[in-house]
Amino acid sequence: MFALNSNNEIVHIKEALSKTDYFCAKCGGRLRVRNGKIKIKHFYHLDNDCGDRGESLIHRYWKEYFSKLKEFERFKIIDSRTEVRLLNNTYIPDIVFKIDDGSYIIIEICYKNPKTFSYLEKFKKLTKLKKVYEIEVNFDEIIETKEIYDREEYINEYTNLKNKLFLAKEYILNISKK
Ligand SMILES: [Zn+2]
Repeated sequence: MFALNSNNEIVHIKEALSKTDYFCAKCGGRLRVRNGKIKIKHFYHLDNDCGDRGESLIHRYWKEYFSKLKEFERFKIIDSRTEVRLLNNTYIPDIVFKIDDGSYIIIEICYKNPKTFSYLEKFKKLTKLKKVYEIEVNFDEIIETKEIYDREEYINEYTNLKNKLFLAKEYILNISKK
């Protein structure tokens, strides 16, 4: 479904031309387009077939797609970056959007395997991080956009917890006075 052209750019099968050389991202082998009568339009390996059907390019394809957006979920994007190294290189999100209020939004793209919540602790440490979205994709479409972190919610929960602890302490103090 995906291949690289001679400029190392991703090409979707829909935009691929016949009689043109494309390359497999996994093995580097030459690919051509076949417009079969039985099978739908697809790439095939000219030489040895490594079995890759462009899966290795899905992530990169969507990363490029999202980094070109000017707006996302009603947020105005001022700048977007990939390969941003955060928290002493321990966390490299797929995409970081800077939005017009000066805060940041992180996009994580997932194909088949959703990210685990081990990242939550990292998100909390990033004070300017407003929201994190996990976007599930396949070859042709965005399957689901999930909000997996919201700083405001986290701060509210934290404040609630602090209030509860305070009340509990008061309560215990009052009891012990009696
Ligand atoms: Zn291959």
